[in-house]
Amino acid sequence: MKKHNFFAGPAELDETVIKNTADNIIDFAGTGISIMAISHRSKEFIAVMEKAVNLTKELLDVPSTHEVIFLQGGASLQFAMLPMNLLDKKAAYVDSGTWASNAIKEAKLFGEVVVVGSSKDKNYNYIPVGWEKNIPSDASYLHYTSNNTIFGTQFKKDPDVNVLLASDMSSDIFWRPVDVSKYAIIYAGAQKNIGPSGITLAIVRKDLLDKINRPVPTMLKYSTHVDKESMYNTPPTVATYACVQSLERFKNLGGVKALGKIADQRANSIYDEIDRNKLFVSTVPDASHRSNMNITFVMNEQYKDLEKDFTDFAKSRNIVGITGHRSVGGFRASVYLSQRDDSVNALIQAMKDFEKK
Ligand SMILES: *Cc1c(COP(=O)(O)O)cnc(C)c1O
Repeated sequence: MKKHNFFAGPAELDETVIKNTADNIIDFAGTGISIMAISHRSKEFIAVMEKAVNLTKELLDVPSTHEVIFLQGGASLQFAMLPMNLLDKKAAYVDSGTWASNAIKEAKLFGEVVVVGSSKDKNYNYIPVGWEKNIPSDASYLHYTSNNTIFGTQFKKDPDVNVLLASDMSSDIFWRPVDVSKYAIIYAGAQKNIGPSGITLAIVRKDLLDKINRPVPTMLKYSTHVDKESMYNTPPTVATYACVQSLERFKNLGGVKALGKIADQRANSIYDEIDRNKLFVSTVPDASHRSNMNITFVMNEQYKDLEKDFTDFAKSRNIVGITGHRSVGGFRASVYLSQRDDSVNALIQAMKDFEKK
């Protein structure tokens, strides 16, 4: 029985993406060899990597000043790799959640970190505002987490600042058009919005690379991966293949703007039900700060003891993965770009029926 999957990552992927990847695990591109067992230097696999890069460039309208690379180590390695490669003396960071503060912790190993804005005072239930004036003019970049996967908040557009931007877009990349020219780097672990875990997308501005006076191991230099077209060492071939399937699907659905519109409709329908239903309340009071990728909500105070009952009720309808992160509690419905409309409808129906009950 197929489940309605609301896990935050790894997360739901389209059936065609999974099926096509499964088929190619048996016989890759008619080679008679599994994608798991063929050389990454084969012309068939090189074509897959090229597709991954080119589709990303096309979907995000990446200018020629920037390069798209695929890395390993997840977004968590980028927390260190970014300052190691690009932080000269200081960098500015917005602390909007757990992932943002993990990024800050790593950056401090390489220089001065100025936390220009934070929403920690209210357990990260809003997006900090009005911090732009706090950015030192000699900051190498301003880092922000575009979507706070755990706390259900989201920057809806590029911040307007006077330094280069750097962003962890792990959980909302391809949701909106981004002005890539404003960025030193954009990075995203694949397992939220694109494909399986084990692969990380990065878009780097080429003229910034190898400028910092600090020894960087070969594998951790962005320039290594730019020069070797993401094939310096053995890439995760199956994960790369699966990502290409998703990116092709994104393109066929009409690209980033169309994807965002569909995603917004799904998210809004759940938020509308949370706001209407007397049992539930959003954890993010300001609706304009709410994430359209991760919808976090709790039981209204007087119904708190029904939390487990609702989880079980949802489970009885094949709805899984809605338990909130332990630092927020309650529920979290992740509705990334590959989420299904029937799953969203099943969740909304379960909320309505549970209220009646
Ligand atoms: C999941 C997540 C991470 C951590 O990603 P890993 O690939 O596990 O290192 C970092 N940032 C954000 C915004 C995330 O959602």
